[in-house]
Amino acid sequence: MALFKKFFRRKSGRKSNRTSEIPEGIAYAYWSCLCDDESCEECKSLEGTAWIPYLVSVTEPPLSSCKSLEGCRCIVVYIGKEERGANDISEFIRKSGGKVTSEQLEQYEEGKMD
Ligand SMILES: [Zn+2]
Repeated sequence: MALFKKFFRRKSGRKSNRTSEIPEGIAYAYWSCLCDDESCEECKSLEGTAWIPYLVSVTEPPLSSCKSLEGCRCIVVYIGKEERGANDISEFIRKSGGKVTSEQLEQYEEGKMD
């Protein structure tokens, strides 16, 4: 396990040097934090934040202010337009100004179920 962690950290560290480009055909992106005991509060609070990369710019992980001893392990997950419900969600995010919190997204999804 210790070995794996070491490898993981080095790998993600190398990736972090560059701001990644926005892939094509994206409906929206969301922040994913591993959210375990090692995660810092700031990373946890960003978990589930969703935005439209073409509309707003969001500081991408790894967070420089991350306090985790493991280093920031957050990632951005891109959701393609062809995924089920992706266009509805991206429309909701767009109407909300291009970025929503996980709470807003939850409310939206709960509202859809009624
Ligand atoms: Zn993080």
